Amino acid sequence: MAFFGTNGVRGIANEYITPQLAIDVSRSLGTYMGSKGTVAIGRDTRASGEMLKSASIAGALSAGLTVIDLGICPTPSVQYYVKDHADAGIVVTASHNPREYNGIKLIASDGSELSRDGEKEIERIYYSKEFSAAPWNRTGDLRFENNANEYYIKGIINSVDHKLIREKRFRVVADTGCGAGSVTLPFLLQRLGCEVITINGQADGTFPWRNPEPTPDVLTELAEIVRKTGANMGVAHDGDADRAVFFDENADFIEEETLLAMMAKYVLGNKKGPIVTPVSSSSRMLDVAREAGVELVWTAVGSINVARKMMETGAVFGGEGNGGLIFPEHQYCRDGAMACAKFLEIIANGHKLSELAKSVPAYFNSKTKTKVQDLPATMEKVKKEFILEGSKVDTTDGVKVWYEDGWILIRPSGTEPIIRIFAESKTKDRADELMRLGLELVNRSIL
Ligand code: MG
Repeated sequence: MAFFGTNGVRGIANEYITPQLAIDVSRSLGTYMGSKGTVAIGRDTRASGEMLKSASIAGALSAGLTVIDLGICPTPSVQYYVKDHADAGIVVTASHNPREYNGIKLIASDGSELSRDGEKEIERIYYSKEFSAAPWNRTGDLRFENNANEYYIKGIINSVDHKLIREKRFRVVADTGCGAGSVTLPFLLQRLGCEVITINGQADGTFPWRNPEPTPDVLTELAEIVRKTGANMGVAHDGDADRAVFFDENADFIEEETLLAMMAKYVLGNKKGPIVTPVSSSSRMLDVAREAGVELVWTAVGSINVARKMMETGAVFGGEGNGGLIFPEHQYCRDGAMACAKFLEIIANGHKLSELAKSVPAYFNSKTKTKVQDLPATMEKVKKEFILEGSKVDTTDGVKVWYEDGWILIRPSGTEPIIRIFAESKTKDRADELMRLGLELVNRSIL
């Protein structure tokens, strides 16, 4: 199992994610950076955050880096700060994972997530334990920066039509889930002239009221308040606020694949250019791209792949079907608060979220998984079978097979000995059928 998963190193705090691990990761980063430069370090609200942030700081100082301690910040706020003020970033966060987790995520000098190659090199240094240690009189300096979130909020305000939004005096209900977004989202909304009703707004790493993952089943209170107050919108963050999910003016949850496609549609209405999304995303994105006459570029799963492909292709928008939206005019990373500001701009322009959601095509999805011993061999066989069949196969990430009326995606898990099978079509029955087809083929391919 790789040390760095799709989103950094994650695990149970103080069991797997120990202070020693945090020290060694930042010593590895410092060694990778040649023991010079500045690293900005921020954290989400998790109970173990201060412990792990302190350890990360100690490791970076030991390697001779200058450290800027940003305190509690959403991940995109750290990224925005790094882009203009530092050579690298460390975020102590486990994003949407359960309460007991924590993790470490590394940020490149341009504010995007560190590349896979960079992570691999850091992983090599981590296991070799060949850390550069600064001489006694050249260990790093520590500075504190209290304005990173302010800088970030201003950046978002300047990336949307803030004058128009302010005129409308929207009523917005925000559930920041006691996570890092608690220190940014309510203030962003306030400065966009909104009447803000915040719930779970105290930064509290025990997450007393809901899981950091913003799924509809834990957001019933938010929906209820949107309905009762006649709010224009409801918004909820995950633990580190790089993602946001939304409720429309009728207090209906906007399914995340729909959210992605409706934002793409809005962006393409103003500006033409390629859009980017992982192969796991719904065909809704393809329909929106076709309708606008632009190219859709598919990538491997993971927001970093989407962000890098967006830079490469000069894309106007990109994102994942989990509420992680990327706006290049702001920064090349998932940004929940930016998505929220953009939705306010959409409403300010006279659209209703419910109507925009209805305007993107509907699809049905099915998924399942199966236990597999030899993942690579099985995947290879699955690929060959589909190619033999003469199917249209995309191997950007796992094996995706396109049919006239839908697709099957077969992907090995990065962390467990299982293969996941996803399917999509215009009807639930057909999606289920495609899923079963995929499952049968995997089972037949198990050696
Ligand atoms: Mg997150």
